[in-house]
Parts: sequence; structure tokens; C-alpha cells
Amino acid sequence: MNIILLGPPGAGKGTQAQRLVERHGLKQLSTGDMLRAAVKAGTPVGLKAKAVMEAGQLVSDEIVSALIGDELDAMGAGTGAIFDGYPRTAAQAESLDAILASRGRQLDHVIELDVNEDALVERITGRYTCATCGKGYHDTFEKPKVEGTCDKCGGHEFKRRPDDNEETVRTRMAEYRAKTAPILPIYEARGIVARVDGMAQMDAVTASIEAILA
Ligand SMILES: [Zn+2]
Repeated sequence: MNIILLGPPGAGKGTQAQRLVERHGLKQLSTGDMLRAAVKAGTPVGLKAKAVMEAGQLVSDEIVSALIGDELDAMGAGTGAIFDGYPRTAAQAESLDAILASRGRQLDHVIELDVNEDALVERITGRYTCATCGKGYHDTFEKPKVEGTCDKCGGHEFKRRPDDNEETVRTRMAEYRAKTAPILPIYEARGIVARVDGMAQMDAVTASIEAILA
């Protein structure tokens, strides 16, 4: 089984990927991680990538394809892959098809964790933590029992992360849409895109993903 998992920041993609790894023995292939590992290990592809990066250039699709091919070969035919952050372009999607086909594999599912942007803004901008003990709260969903007092430690100071603001969330959503726009239509035309409500409880999201894979 080989899948692509897509989801904007805040949709819980990391958690769901981890659960897929645990439940199905899949391996998560993040091109950034693979690149760093190959450079560190000094593989032929890693050395090529290192030279390109040291020259201040972007790593080519060809190098990324070689990295993925090496990784799939190392994993063995029995282990499926979760592609994370790749492909980003139509050309990369085409390369991925070729890489998989040459190893007797195919892409089975593209699963997108769908979010309602306004609800995501509310979820993220409302969260804050106790400055003393770190307990998490939310303006709407989890207020302290006594206003202004931490339930856990009785502290009165709270803090918010500076990037938990509406503008940042909407910018990240726009970036996510721009990144996935080139590839989603390709997979939609093949009928392998499935959308799951990323705003649901984590376990419910997992159950929906399991239903798609079943
Ligand atoms: Zn506290």
C-alpha cells in the first residue's frame, strides 16, 4: 500500500501519519528527512545533493527521485509508503508514478485531511497555556473553571504563542492550497482522492482513514 497524505497545518497530519505507521507498518517518506539522512550517510545521491546545496542551488527533481527510489529499495517490496510533502508539481507526480511502477508498486490512495478554514482559525487563535505549569486552555472549548485562574496550579498568568493568530493561520492555509493545487486534479481524475474531516476528533479521523484503506 502506497499513499499520499495531505493536510494543512493544524489538521493533525503528523498524528495520523504516526498511526498509519503503527497500524499498517507503513514507512513515512519525507523528502527533507531523506535528503538529510542521505547527505549524512554519504550515499552517492547524498553526495550529489550535498554538492548542489553547497553551491546554493535547489536539489533537482532528479535527485529527489533517486532518493525516493533508494529508500523504496531499502524498504523492500513488503513495506508500503506514506509520501509526505511530495509530490508538489505535476512533473513530480509523473516521476513518482514512474518510480513506483518500476518497482511493481502503485499509488493506492491520496488522503486529504480537510479543514474548515474559519473553524481552524477559531481552534488555533483561541488556544493559550498557563505560564506557570503549561496546562492548555481554549477561549471557547476549554476555559478554566474560575476565570483567570489555572485549574491545575492556581496560577494567574497565561500566554499565547505569537503565531497563533488569524493572519498566520490564513497565510498557511493559502500556502497549503497553492502547494496542493497542482497535484490534486491529477489524482482526482484517477479517482483515488479521498477527503476526511480533519476537524473531527483524532480517533474519528483515524477511523475514517481506516475505512478508506479497508
Ligand atoms: Zn497552571
